[in-house]
Amino acid sequence: MKYIFVTGGVVSSLGKGLAAASIGTLLEHRGLKVQIQKFDPYLNVDPGTMSPYQHGEVYVLDDGAETDLDLGHYERFTHGNFSQVNSLSSGQVFENVIKNERAGKYLGATVQFIPHVTDEIKARLQLATESNPEADVIITEIGGTVGDIEGHLFLEALRQFALDVGKENVCFIHVTLLPMVRAAGEIKTKPTQQSVAKLREIGIQPDIIICRTEHDLDDDNRRKIAMFCNVQKDHVVAFRDVENTIYECPLDLRKDKIDRLVSDVLNLKSETPDLSRWENFVHRLVHPSQKTTIAVVGKYIELNDAYKSIYESLTIAGAEHDTAIEVIKIDAEDIEQHGAEKIIGKIGGILVPGGFGERGTEGKILAAQYARENKIPYFGICLGMQIATIEFARNVCGITEANSTEFAKETPHPVISLQEEQQGITDMGASMRLGSCESSLLPGTKSYELYGQTTTIHERHRHRWEFNPAYREQLEAAGLTIASVSKDEGLVEIIEIPDHPFFIAAQFHPEFKSKPNSPHPIFSGFVKASLENK
Ligand code: GLN
Repeated sequence: MKYIFVTGGVVSSLGKGLAAASIGTLLEHRGLKVQIQKFDPYLNVDPGTMSPYQHGEVYVLDDGAETDLDLGHYERFTHGNFSQVNSLSSGQVFENVIKNERAGKYLGATVQFIPHVTDEIKARLQLATESNPEADVIITEIGGTVGDIEGHLFLEALRQFALDVGKENVCFIHVTLLPMVRAAGEIKTKPTQQSVAKLREIGIQPDIIICRTEHDLDDDNRRKIAMFCNVQKDHVVAFRDVENTIYECPLDLRKDKIDRLVSDVLNLKSETPDLSRWENFVHRLVHPSQKTTIAVVGKYIELNDAYKSIYESLTIAGAEHDTAIEVIKIDAEDIEQHGAEKIIGKIGGILVPGGFGERGTEGKILAAQYARENKIPYFGICLGMQIATIEFARNVCGITEANSTEFAKETPHPVISLQEEQQGITDMGASMRLGSCESSLLPGTKSYELYGQTTTIHERHRHRWEFNPAYREQLEAAGLTIASVSKDEGLVEIIEIPDHPFFIAAQFHPEFKSKPNSPHPIFSGFVKASLENK
C-alpha cells in the first residue's frame, strides 16, 4: 500500500480538501484504485453534534457515519463509496484510548500521548489499509494548519508511520498559501518557508509543495521555494484560484503534473490520464446553453457550506441538461414575514432542504403551498418532505392543526412523529435513523420512472422524525402518492403529488449520491422540470 498525506500551512480554508480530492481524481484517471480519508483534530467524536454555522453540512456515508463535508468532495471527485474508517477525529482517538485504559488494556503502563495516542492514530491507518486491500493508494488529509497545538499528535503519528512502512511508500504533500503583497506588487514565499520549517521541526520533509495562488507562479519563486523548503523545483506545484467551478481543480493541478510527481515519489506504475470525460463535464458547466432559477428555502442560507452537497448536486444535474443553475437563497423567515409570492415570485423550481428545529418551518410550509398551488416544481429533502406532508395535510385534507411533534409537541394531529421505540432516547446519535437503507419503489410513479424503472433503491438517511402511518390512508385518499417505503419497516420514503408537473419529496438525502456525469435521478428530474416550467 502507498500513502499520501496532505497537510496544510499558513492559513485555513486553502482548499486542502479539494487538493486531496483532485489528486484522487487524477490518480483514478491513471488507472489506480484510490481511498481518501480525513483526520480532524477537533474533540467532537463526529461533526454530527456541530452546528452548521460551525462546520457546514454533515455529510453522511452509507454506513451512517456523520462526517466532514470534505468527504463529500472525496466521494464526488472519485468513484469512492467511503465509510466510518475514512473519517477520524481527535474525539474518536481519545474516546478509544480512555476506553482501552478503563478496560485495562495497557497492562499497567502509564498511558501517554506518545506512544498511546499516536499508536491509536496509526492503528486507524492500519485499519484503513486492511479494510481496503484492493486500493493502490490511501490519501489522508489532515485537518487544520501545521503549527496548531491540536494537530501536533497527528503529525507525530504520521512521522512515525512513515518510518514503520518505509519512506518509499509515503508521499508528504504540503498545501500552502502564496500571498500577494499589493503595495510591493510581489508574491511572498516567506509564510510557505516558515510553515515548511515547522513541519521539518516535527521531522516531516514534504515531497511536494502545493502553492495556492491567485497569480501565476514564476520560475524564480519556484526556485526560491524549492531551495528554502528542500524540495526539487518541479515538485513545487501551483494551485491557482479556479475561475468557474471547483471541478476545474484537477485540471489545474494537472498542469504541473502533480499526478506524475506523486506516482514517481511513490514508485507507482500508472498510465497517462485521459481526462476527456472530465473536461467535457467541466466544459458543459462553464458553457451551458440554457439557464434556470431554483429557490432554496432554508434556515442557514447565508452560509454556503450548510447545503454544500445540495448545491453541488444541482450543479451536476445542471451539467447533465446543459443548464446553468442560478440558486436563489431564501431565508424561510422572510417568507413568514412577507409571503411566498413576494419573496419567491417567478421561479423555475423550489427546493426545501433538510434541517432541525422549529425556526423557519412555517415559512417553508408556505413555500411548499406556493409550489403546489402554482404548479411550480417542488423538491423536498428530509425536513422538506416532512414540511410538504404537513402542508398537504393542512391545506388539502383540511387538518388545520397538522404538525410535526418536533415543532409542536402537543399537536392534536402529529402527521410527522417519532416512532414509538425512539421515544425517550436522549443520546444524540442513538435516536437517529442514519445511513443507507433499502426501499421499494412503486411502479407507475414519477420516482419509479426517474430511477429508470427499478423497484429497489438505496439511499442515505439522517433524521429522527417519520411520516406518521396513522395518517397515511387519509392523505392518500386526498391524492397524495406514497411512491416509496422502506423494505424493513415500511416507513414512508418518498411522497409525490401526481396532479402536478413535479412534486417529489424524499425522507432521505439524495444529495449525497451525485457524482459528475452521474447526477442523482431526482435532482436530474427536478432540474429538467424547472427548465420546462415557463
Ligand atoms: N428534523 C427532522 C428530523 O429529525 C429532519 C432532519 C433532516 O432534515 N435531516 O426528522
